[in-house]
Amino acid sequence: MAREFEIVVIGGGPGGYVAAIKAAQAGKTVAIVEAEKLGGTCLHKGCIPTKALLKAAHVYQTAKHGSTYGVETGSVSFNMERAQSFKRDLVAGLEKGIEHLMKQGKIEVFRGKASILGPSIFSPQPGTVAVEDESGESELILPNQLIIATGSIPRELPGLPFDHTRILNSDDLLQFEQLPESIAIVGGGVIGVEWASMLIDLDVAVTLIEVGERLLPLEDKAVSREVERLLKKRGVRVLKNVTVDPERTEVATDAVSLAVGEEMISVECVLVSVGRVANTEHLGLQNTSIVVENGVIQVDEQYRTKERHIFAIGDCIGKLQLAHVASAEGVKAVETILGHEPTPLDYALIPRCVYGVPEVASVGMTEEGAKAAGHEVKTGTYRFNGLGKARIEGQADGFVKLVSDKTTDDLLGVHIVGPKATELITEGGLALVLNATAWEMGQLVHPHPALSEAFQEAALAVDGLPIHA
Ligand code: FAD
Repeated sequence: MAREFEIVVIGGGPGGYVAAIKAAQAGKTVAIVEAEKLGGTCLHKGCIPTKALLKAAHVYQTAKHGSTYGVETGSVSFNMERAQSFKRDLVAGLEKGIEHLMKQGKIEVFRGKASILGPSIFSPQPGTVAVEDESGESELILPNQLIIATGSIPRELPGLPFDHTRILNSDDLLQFEQLPESIAIVGGGVIGVEWASMLIDLDVAVTLIEVGERLLPLEDKAVSREVERLLKKRGVRVLKNVTVDPERTEVATDAVSLAVGEEMISVECVLVSVGRVANTEHLGLQNTSIVVENGVIQVDEQYRTKERHIFAIGDCIGKLQLAHVASAEGVKAVETILGHEPTPLDYALIPRCVYGVPEVASVGMTEEGAKAAGHEVKTGTYRFNGLGKARIEGQADGFVKLVSDKTTDDLLGVHIVGPKATELITEGGLALVLNATAWEMGQLVHPHPALSEAFQEAALAVDGLPIHA
């Protein structure tokens, strides 16, 4: 027998579980199928555990430099096992929170691996879900509407497969109870930069290798330059425009000799952070008419696949691979199922964040992107070192940069490198959503002393008149 639900979600990450809650709030009967743990990559292998360890690294550095503030701590050391147990407790607590939300919403949780069946005796259309649990037992679920939210997995470097001891992905490194003495990080995107920042703070020798001409290639060029400058200042060796040659690379039991350009780099281990691929294999998609390109499920603006009753959201549709994007897509998909005809998500207004030191956050267009889109632009940049609050925080590096249209003064993009950038960006996001101009942002009285004063100064700088510069 197949159990029937109005809405079934495959995958309990921030896309899937948020969609399930939204559907349950509308009074639907809802089931969610999760092969591993509720919370998905975000809670167990991504956003939360990495930020927990980044916080640990930050506390270590703060303690080391406490004497600047008159705090004498004596000798300071870092205990990775303790940091890991802080991370584990935190994640377990948040996982319990999600389990509670499922109970509260009367959402039935199926533990096991889901696959989608073609037309069967239960339904003439594809979409019946078979769930196989760890012991190999199978159960069938029959949804009216199905949402696929199976996320993504780390991409391997061709010729250098993960061995999970020397050639690592981020999931592996997150489990380390002992820090390596040295590491090469291949890939200067968000994950690579966050790990580089954390590990250099924990006294690991870090080489960061990027095939392109700059780190964080999706960010404004000025942001990439500043991040590279500050990572180098803290001791990270940054190599750009180089590729790793797997054929000349030697992986031994205790070390790796990594061939990078002309050089051989000897390190204890290598973190490969060259992106993530949609997790859509072995899902039974071949039993449906769903279109898949390079593993990525193709959807329309409402997240509908070629099967009208099957939707897909989050990392597996390969748009912006971010937790808040997965959740927002999940909400939109459910609203569509409910017949609300939601306005499509505006991806240009989604904040993008990097949680290293310095933090990076941006929303809207880069200066280069705005020009390429045909805008004549003007920009205003204000450096944090002009602000009392940034100096009090001991983090006066970085800046706020605003990009606006030269004719209309409309803000097109907001870019921050520096302290609390990932919190500050929401002001920029709101300004863009409300179609604010740089002049309007400059008129808003900001509190003093505050890091957000940088917005007002940058806004005034758009027309060349910052106060504290
Ligand atoms: P996932 O979170 O990947 O969840 C998918 C779930 O589906 C998993 O639990 C999986 O077990 C389950 N599943 C897969 N196949 C099946 C199946 N056949 N049957 C049943 N269950 C299945 N994003 C941010 O916004 N901020 C950050 O700071 C951030 N930091 C990150 C740091 C790292 C190191 C990484 C790797 C990612 C980070 N991300 C961050 C990205 C973020 O984690 C993802 O964008 C987000 O988790 C995607 O959500 P999702 O629901 O699409 O998929």
